[in-house]
Amino acid sequence: MNLIQRLRQWWLQVTCPTEFLCDNCKYDHGDVCARPERPNATKCPDYRPRG
Ligand code: SF4
Repeated sequence: MNLIQRLRQWWLQVTCPTEFLCDNCKYDHGDVCARPERPNATKCPDYRPRG
């Protein structure tokens, strides 16, 4: 992950409107995400807001 990508990811995480990233993440359904942090991730390199 380059600096721009890291800054973008940081910004996405600090602007997340929910306590846990997973509650606002487009990968939080079914078997799409198998990360151990789910469902209570507060940091996650794969987090993407639902759009
Ligand atoms: S990708 Fe990260 S933030 Fe999204 S559901 Fe999985 S663990 Fe949660």
